[in-house]
Amino acid sequence: MLGPVILAASRSDRMRRLISAAPVTKQVVDRFIPGESVADIVPIIEELTGRGLELTMDVVGEDITTPEQAAAARDAYLALVERLRGLGLGERVEMSVKLSMFGQALDGGHELALANVRPVVEAAAAIGTTVTLDAEDHTTLDSMFAIHEELRRDFPQTGCVIQAYLFRTEADARRLAEAGSRVRLVKGAYKEPAEVAYQQKHEIDKAYVRILRTLMEGEGYPMVGSHDPRLISIAQELARRAGRKPDEYEFQMLYGIRSDEHLRLAAEGHRMRVYTAYGTDWYGYFMRRLAEKPANLRFFLRSMVSK
Ligand code: FAD
Repeated sequence: MLGPVILAASRSDRMRRLISAAPVTKQVVDRFIPGESVADIVPIIEELTGRGLELTMDVVGEDITTPEQAAAARDAYLALVERLRGLGLGERVEMSVKLSMFGQALDGGHELALANVRPVVEAAAAIGTTVTLDAEDHTTLDSMFAIHEELRRDFPQTGCVIQAYLFRTEADARRLAEAGSRVRLVKGAYKEPAEVAYQQKHEIDKAYVRILRTLMEGEGYPMVGSHDPRLISIAQELARRAGRKPDEYEFQMLYGIRSDEHLRLAAEGHRMRVYTAYGTDWYGYFMRRLAEKPANLRFFLRSMVSK
């Protein structure tokens, strides 16, 4: 019951101000967002890749309100690419972007987001890596898929995310399961109405399996974004039945969640990519992580009280 309330709070400016100013222990935020700057994050990149993991980096931020903020988001990613160039890790470290951070919701936002994300995709390609477009709330997805298609004309390896909770996603998955595509499947993290999305966990899980089957049987590169142990073993079985080798799909999990499992899957020879967020505008990302697991909220509240 708490999840939807926290998700509603994640879009509230008043709550953002309140919680961002609260004496949240750094420890709580750090569990999910282990740094504020490129300098903070480089040791984490080195440590995780040194342990056989791959990464997708997210500079936190979303729902910006001015074109200047959108340009700053682009520049933050370009600074990251510059640093990654020096590390020489190629596609072992890719990037995830939220188009709302690149101006998608502003006037003329579709064109603005495309203009801001293109140089990042270009810079990523120049160092041998790529970018995945995250999926935000359902009202943004037609624009996201159109930008994805546009970017793929020049950078076919550009990935995108689809969300199992949305009714539309089975059709999106069929369209996207083509040679050369890279598609991350997740359950979905936003508060969506019953007109467009399944509301019950068991319905979402069943949809996840149906969509995953489409991706595994298709010709693209599936990226299994989940911490759910049941779905992870189903994914392995579907990959086996589809005749996929371990390098023909990958698992992805979020930094700070089931970290032992990241290492276990990597040690078993799977490609395991850790979605690692950093930056100062952590509010929306942090609140979605609280909404996914009520125990996180209890931990967070306790740490505020004990300050
Ligand atoms: P769940 O059933 O929610 O969780 C399974 C188990 O994992 C839980 O029992 C618990 O042990 C653990 N777990 C899950 N979440 C947490 C948590 N926050 N804290 C502690 N333990 C937890 N969503 C989008 O809408 N758009 C995106 O672009 C997007 N990108 C993502 C990228 C990656 C790599 C991943 C892993 C998730 C992404 N998500 C995205 C979030 C996703 O939609 C889910 O909200 C999230 O992954 C939780 O679902 P689950 O599949 O892990 O299953």
